[in-house]
Amino acid sequence: MTDKAIALENVDLSLGRGAARVHILKGISLDIERGEAVGLVGPSGSGKSTLLMTMAGLERPDSGRIVVDGRDLSGLDEDALARFRGRRIGIVFQSFHLVPTMTALENVALPLELAGEADAYPRAMAELKSVGLAERMSHYPAQLSGGEQQRVAIARAIAPDPAILVADEPTGNLDEGTGGSIVDLLFALKRDRGATLVLVTHDLALARRCDRTVRLRSGRIETDAAVPA
Ligand code: ADP
Ligand code: MG
Repeated sequence: MTDKAIALENVDLSLGRGAARVHILKGISLDIERGEAVGLVGPSGSGKSTLLMTMAGLERPDSGRIVVDGRDLSGLDEDALARFRGRRIGIVFQSFHLVPTMTALENVALPLELAGEADAYPRAMAELKSVGLAERMSHYPAQLSGGEQQRVAIARAIAPDPAILVADEPTGNLDEGTGGSIVDLLFALKRDRGATLVLVTHDLALARRCDRTVRLRSGRIETDAAVPA
């Protein structure tokens, strides 16, 4: 076992069927410490999103080992994996994945309700306020701009206080000012709660705030280095 937040050992992953099958992750080995913030960078198509989803237990590798928060993910069936994710991992998807038939407030409250939290709605409200969406709580995703949807997705991921938060280009749809304050919220989770952050980003300012940068190229780790202070 391991005391790392995330440990990947020689992970290979392919997606797609038949002739469309693509070998995406190739021999990825990576240890991420508890409380560490890692920026995941690299050209478009290099496998960043796939690697993030694999760490979060949303894609199963063809081979190799993935241990998250002390759990070997290969030992968990789909239900156990979903419960584990719900309790320990916050995920911000590149395309948000908000529930279209639920308001912003209901989207953020959902994981809290699933976790059996009695104060799901007040907490969801506070979280939406903290991302600057106090005035948008009863809007549906389709009534929100891309940046607003992104902030709802971030509020939803942060609200349950996850030990590990993975986010795919969390500032991709935000202007500089809004992006900065959202990034402050992510890093508050690390500072105040000791959460581990893995952030896919093209945003240099965001990458610089991380402890370490892992650069992917064609499904392999090209470089892995501490961010200069
Ligand atoms: P990045 O996030 O770095 O842009 P991705 O992880 O999204 O890269 O994709 C890596 C490669 O895998 C790309 O070439 C992409 O086209 C391919 N890919 C991603 N998802 C699938 C899928 N479901 N089926 C087949 N190929 C995929
Ligand atoms: Mg991507």
